[in-house]
Amino acid sequence: MLYAEGYRYRLHRKDLPGKPDIVFGPRKKIVFVHGCFWHGHGCSKGRLPKSNESFWEPKIRANKARDRKNAARLRRMGWKILVVWQCQLKDALATRKRIVDFLG
Ligand SMILES: [Zn+2]
Repeated sequence: MLYAEGYRYRLHRKDLPGKPDIVFGPRKKIVFVHGCFWHGHGCSKGRLPKSNESFWEPKIRANKARDRKNAARLRRMGWKILVVWQCQLKDALATRKRIVDFLG
């Protein structure tokens, strides 16, 4: 979709903190697409399984802390960041609008 809109970007740039999903270099903008479970979204997909909660809780909490740290490092480097959640991709039109508004 983004490519069809005329945007050019790179995926998972290893030279940036957290290997961001979609990087728009010249714009200094980054879009993360977060899986709801692994990144601990507050939606139904982000809910921890009842069994083994003591296993999953610290794991997901560490992932969220790492996300925050990477985002802070990227912002200090001058990058602007938009997070799109997996559950939001269902509404393709709204997601497209958010990304296009963000990119300008
Ligand atoms: Zn979600």
